[in-house]
This record gives sequence, C-alpha cells and structure tokens, in this order.
Amino acid sequence: MSTVYLEHRDAHHVPGAGSSDEIEAGLQRAAEAIAACDALLFTAGAGMGVDSGLPDFRGTTGLWKDRDVAMTYEDMSDDKWFTEDPAFAWGVNYTQLAMYRKNASHAGYATLLKWANTLGKPYCVWTSNIDGMFQKAGFPNELVTTCHGDMHHLQCSVDSRKCKGLAEDRSDEVWSAEVIPDGLDEEIDPGSLRFIDAPSLDRPCFKCPRCGRLARPNVWFCGDMNYVVRQSTCKQRDGYNKWLWDLQGRQAKLVVIECGGGLAIPSVRIEGEDDVDSCGDGSLLVRFNPNDCKVPSSKGVGIPLGGMRGLALLDAALQKALTPKRSPTRSSLAAPKSKAAAARKPSPAPRKPSPAPP
Ligand SMILES: [Zn+2]
Repeated sequence: MSTVYLEHRDAHHVPGAGSSDEIEAGLQRAAEAIAACDALLFTAGAGMGVDSGLPDFRGTTGLWKDRDVAMTYEDMSDDKWFTEDPAFAWGVNYTQLAMYRKNASHAGYATLLKWANTLGKPYCVWTSNIDGMFQKAGFPNELVTTCHGDMHHLQCSVDSRKCKGLAEDRSDEVWSAEVIPDGLDEEIDPGSLRFIDAPSLDRPCFKCPRCGRLARPNVWFCGDMNYVVRQSTCKQRDGYNKWLWDLQGRQAKLVVIECGGGLAIPSVRIEGEDDVDSCGDGSLLVRFNPNDCKVPSSKGVGIPLGGMRGLALLDAALQKALTPKRSPTRSSLAAPKSKAAAARKPSPAPRKPSPAPP
C-alpha cells in the first residue's frame, strides 16, 4: 500500500458507488461524459488482467499462491536474480511469459477497442501491465504506452555499456521474446518456480546475441539497475505526452477509463487523476476497481466492479446514451412554433477527431 499516495491524495477522495442505484447513476454519468468528450484515455493496472485469468501478483490470485517461494513479490521483482540465481529468475519470468502467451484478452478489451474504433474520438492507452494484452486485443502498438516495459521483449542482463557489440544507433538493444519457445513449463518446478536443470538456460534463446551473457525480459522490475528504455517506447511516450499537452492546452474534455489500478504501486491511479485534473471542465475519471474505487471528489466516478463486468455495463449505458431520442409526440408537435422549429433543428455535425499520436 503506497502511504505517500494516500497521505497526499486520500483526504481529497470520496467513496465510489456502493448501492446498485449508485452504480447505475455512476455508469450513466460516465456514459454521458464519454458521449460528450473530446478524447479518451484507457488506463489499466494488474487488476485488468484478472478477468483474463492472469495473476494480480499480490491478491488472492497472485503468482505466489500455492507456491513454496518465501519472499514477497517486491523481493522477487529484482534484476539481481538474473545474476545471483538465474534458474529462479527465469523460472518466475518464463512462467509469466507462458501465461501471457496462453491467455486471451477478455471481452473488456474488445469493448474498449470498439469504442476506440467507432466513437470517432482520439484515444490513447496507458498501462503498467507487462502482459501485452492491449496489443493482443488489437490495439495498435504505437498507441499503447507502457510504463514498465513488457514481457514480450528481451534485453541483455547487464548494463548496455558493458554489453559488447551494441550497434551505434542502439537499434539492437532490445529484441523480441519470440525466440524463446513455448512448452518449457515442464522444466520448471511449480512449487519453487525454478528451472530444475541449469542447462535449460544454456539454450541460445536465453543468451544475449551480442555478448553471450544471460538475456532477461525488457521489464522494469521493482529493483532494477539495468532496465533499458527502448527507442520505440521513448517515441510512444513522446507521442503520448504531446497528445496530452495538446488536450491540456485547449482545455479539452478528456474521459479516462481506468481498470484495475492498484494501491500498492499507484502509478495508474495517479496518471488518470492528474490527467483529468489538468484537462477541461467535463473531463472525468471512471475508475473500475472491486477493492477500492475511491475517486477525487470532482471529476471522478468510482464503480466497485472488475474491468470485464464494469465495461460491459458501461457499454450498455453508453449505447443508450448514444441512441437518438424518440421522435416528438403528437402533443409536442403542437408546441409553439419556435420550440418545434428548435426540436427539428439538426444536431451539429460530430466534431472531427484530431489526429492520433504517432
Ligand atoms: Zn549482452
């Protein structure tokens, strides 16, 4: 639990919806805000993956559940293990990689993608997740900003300055994890999460192609001295920041849909809160979190549901909000001429979306 986050922000937060009536009202407010907004930002933390059958690392579905590993997730999430205990480091990380490859993105991602493709509003994705699920669901890679890297890319386990043979433009600093084959699970002890035999890691796929040292996932671990921020990630972040600054500059209405942003490392929650705070009136943070959906007292709607269920309900509310109102009744047609004329006046053309970031 991040005490710094709570100390500085919690006093300004209000509880999210509690009763079913409050949830319905929250969803309606969210739907109306989406229909009226200028841009959408989809943010997600580990809780978003739970509906896909992925671990949330610290909760009841954590990677540690039913294991014999006597350390916390934070202790495990450290790049020092690739040097001190490679069989454990790769046992844990391969187990995660295999899960991310095997599990499909759930219907909540498809709902977000539908909104992205049909509402005609510019959008971006910002996630702390390393599972690659947004891309698996069909989101273009260039619109998905990751703050912790991802499991589907590899890098050398030592600092780039110590890895010999790096190209001058550093284009080969990070490479695809596709070189690592499926099916190695059987070589990992499910209790200790260690590769049982050290030679498993002698395969070329686990080696840096330049210096021959052990490769590792291009993930920013909790403790990490060697994480490489790859060039494409820098470009994505630049594009994302420029997109956001433009929205802030013109005080546009931004709606942030946040799913599964936890409190342990509240990066996702902070991103959404700051973004709606710095954008214009009518901006709204929609927070789906079954465990803690407190939100800032202004510009926030908290819904105590997981991503998949919450997004399905919000989609239903949104479709209702987007449905044209029924034709005027006979009695309303008999209203004074000026009002009837106003009712027939066509709606303004939809706002042309500004270009998405590169
Ligand atoms: Zn190397």
